[in-house]
Amino acid sequence: MSQPSIVRTNTAELYDAYVMKNYGRPPLTIVRGQGVSVWDDTGREYLDFTSGVAVAALGHCHPVWVEAIRRQAGELIHCSNLFRNPNQGELARRLVQRAGPGRVFFCNSGTEANEGLIKLARLHGVRKAGAEGKCFKIICAKNAFHGRTFGGMSATPQEKIQKGFRPMLPGFAFGELNNLQSFADLVDEDTAAIFLETIQGEGGITPCTDEFLWGLRQLCDQHNLLLMLDEVQCGLGRTGTFYAFQHSGVRADAIGMAKGLGGGYPMGAIWAAEKHAELFTPGSHGSTFGGTPLACAAALAVLDVFERDNILQKVQANGAAWKAELDRLVTDFPQQVKAVTGRGYMLGLLMHGEPPAYITALREAGLLAPSAGTNTIRLLPPLIATQEHLDRATAIIRSVLARKNQSAAS
Ligand SMILES: *Cc1c(COP(=O)(O)O)cnc(C)c1O
Repeated sequence: MSQPSIVRTNTAELYDAYVMKNYGRPPLTIVRGQGVSVWDDTGREYLDFTSGVAVAALGHCHPVWVEAIRRQAGELIHCSNLFRNPNQGELARRLVQRAGPGRVFFCNSGTEANEGLIKLARLHGVRKAGAEGKCFKIICAKNAFHGRTFGGMSATPQEKIQKGFRPMLPGFAFGELNNLQSFADLVDEDTAAIFLETIQGEGGITPCTDEFLWGLRQLCDQHNLLLMLDEVQCGLGRTGTFYAFQHSGVRADAIGMAKGLGGGYPMGAIWAAEKHAELFTPGSHGSTFGGTPLACAAALAVLDVFERDNILQKVQANGAAWKAELDRLVTDFPQQVKAVTGRGYMLGLLMHGEPPAYITALREAGLLAPSAGTNTIRLLPPLIATQEHLDRATAIIRSVLARKNQSAAS
């Protein structure tokens, strides 16, 4: 295995001196990745069940993806959206094939995708009530996470996200997830859209029930509202279907995606059904970098590998078996594990105790996993992870839980 080109010994000092302190980071510097593993600057290997927060869909340095980027980098990286590029057209076609008749707009991140959806809702409100109307209310879910721009933050009703940045955008209201009546109660003539994650990620791994999604669909049809789903984290194969809402069979009016889309290359997109997509007319929205030839080459490589290697079917089958295996932790460690939530390769261990101590213990035992909400350990393996990788992770989790049991008993 080749050595990384740059290994610095003073990275911690450089971060201390020069990088803004908006993250509380563990003392770990990652210098290399391959498949489901990453290595730190001392040469130690970790099983990466963070996947760069659900980004590295194909794991690290997948040969098909690396080759696509290498080839495209030598041909054309960027030409702006003032002109067409062949990769963007082809990627849009393939996303439409997955989502249904409609159109795609490309941007660079999850929060930007959500900005696009919020702007789409505003245009829908104008179509509904006229430019003089004030139909711009968007109903979101409590405990949601939609990103860090003003649109994203305004849709994210969490003190730790909004604190210090108010006032937020006007027009956001919040219902209880999986409580249809609480959403219905918030609908009025000024409402343009309902906007939520199919499976809440950052707030804890909390899926919408199928009945709830169907109820929201009906509510949107009755009141001419857009049903907009944030699939930034749960989409792109993570749950074993291309989009997580496809398990329910519900129809969305618009979808936001990012994270796994570029497989590690920064990229976001929105899809909207044809009659809503046409609300964006020339000049109404844009992005300098969105959908560059390079970003689209990376995403096309992700989709190629999904198809070639039957990734979605494997995530569905392996994920179900893995969840059954993790469910046994609830019976074996009832003082620590409350429940296992989620689907496919987006699972959460709902803990009785605080997750930070567990996250640290798992890392020290060789497994990287992020926390979510206040009491959840998130497990987000690369979608290429095999049953054997999942088993290795389960064994590490078991060893950490067993050690905690022991130290609690002594
Ligand atoms: C990560 C995330 C975002 C924000 O994406 P960025 O690329 O960090 O801007 C938005 N929505 C959901 C559901 C996410 O998980």
